[in-house]
Amino acid sequence: MSTATRPFRGGIHPDDRKLTADMPIQQLPLPAKVRIPLAQHLGAPAAAVVKKGDKVTVGQVVGECHGFVSAAVHATVSGTVTAVGTCPHPSGGEVPAVWIEADGADTWRPDLKPVGEINGPAIVQAVKAAGIVGMGGATFPTQVKLSPPEGKKISVLIVNAAECEPFLTCDYRMMIEHGGKIVRGAELLMAALGVGTCVIGIERNKPKAIEHMQSLVKGRSAMSVQALRTRYPQGGEKQLICALTGREVPSGGLPMDVGCLVQNVATAAAVADAVDLGRPLVERVMTVSGDALSKPGNYLVRIGMTIGEVLAAAGLDETRMAKVILGGPMMGIAVANLDIPVTKGTSGILALSNEWVKEPDIKPCIRCGRCLDVCPIGLNPTLLERLSVTKDVTALQLFHAVDCIECGCCTYTCPARRPLVHGIRYGKLQIAALRKIKKN
Ligand code: SF4
Ligand code: SF4
Repeated sequence: MSTATRPFRGGIHPDDRKLTADMPIQQLPLPAKVRIPLAQHLGAPAAAVVKKGDKVTVGQVVGECHGFVSAAVHATVSGTVTAVGTCPHPSGGEVPAVWIEADGADTWRPDLKPVGEINGPAIVQAVKAAGIVGMGGATFPTQVKLSPPEGKKISVLIVNAAECEPFLTCDYRMMIEHGGKIVRGAELLMAALGVGTCVIGIERNKPKAIEHMQSLVKGRSAMSVQALRTRYPQGGEKQLICALTGREVPSGGLPMDVGCLVQNVATAAAVADAVDLGRPLVERVMTVSGDALSKPGNYLVRIGMTIGEVLAAAGLDETRMAKVILGGPMMGIAVANLDIPVTKGTSGILALSNEWVKEPDIKPCIRCGRCLDVCPIGLNPTLLERLSVTKDVTALQLFHAVDCIECGCCTYTCPARRPLVHGIRYGKLQIAALRKIKKN
């Protein structure tokens, strides 16, 4: 097994608590109703194309792309549209959504069919029609990533299988159970981009997945599987690119600036489904874990089901539940409202008890410098937190607050338990607000 020899700077090694690694993917029962957000991707929300009373089938478009950076949204159950309204969002606000009451028949759209002649434009069109977005959590519309601007040449496709967040095991299970589909999706992504090299990066703490994926790419000279050291945030795009190619994405730049394109394993599998079956993105595999659950596992869940329903199916003990997190514990978002629906980017839901959630006893900074040592971007987190508190937007920009990837390494390692990443996130909002004022 070869191991990448270009470690990214900083990082940490948290207890990975991958409790569900050996639990096969199970399909959750169909929900009786769904609220499907029209804004579950980066960019402009989809525009609703159904109205109250319409009958819909699974896979039918309910929201069309609205602008270049947008993604189509599909019905995830068959039934009747009960409203074009709103639904709660993890940010605390509401977003536009299509509500559907299921008829229980799970009738799929009859005209779904494989792409006839497979070529670059046909693959991109199929990805767009299927509403595929980055399923690792970034939720950037995939067809946009597959259409780099003129002058930007992609030479390497990287399939992100690092899954470095503690608790999460859905990508691991996808590789073990649907590895062939991931390889097929990677081939299609390569064809769409006209790229001759693909590297699948997997952390060394998943030896079975490495072995399995290596067996699947055997004989394909353009594809390889690379074992990576186990270090968070190995799955960050910039860190993965550095580890696998030695290329450094510049400050404010994108992977395409160094000739790379990164796609998550689940996204690759969704691309295979879109091209080979004509299947839109209506469900996803996610990890549901934590010590407030009696049936943690990896579940295939229809988009639009509420996180409360998913947790109930996973045996939630509400008397033990102290915190619910969407995503992993490092980069995920704590939510108070269990009516928030599952979206295309929901890789995990964690329900943790008080034993696993300790409220931090925040103390003054002792100037130990540990946060600087672990920052994978090379930022000065303690300085950025102070600048955020004093609202010094000019200095926040000068010290590259916008380059923070919000990985949480600084907060994790701080002996004074400073909420550094929250402070920096607030500083980034201040920069965004200033830029908006200047633009208008
Ligand atoms: S400053 Fe940002 S990028 Fe650096 S460790 Fe903290 S959260 Fe991660
Ligand atoms: S790790 Fe915490 S205590 Fe140490 S310098 Fe950074 S903010 Fe201060």
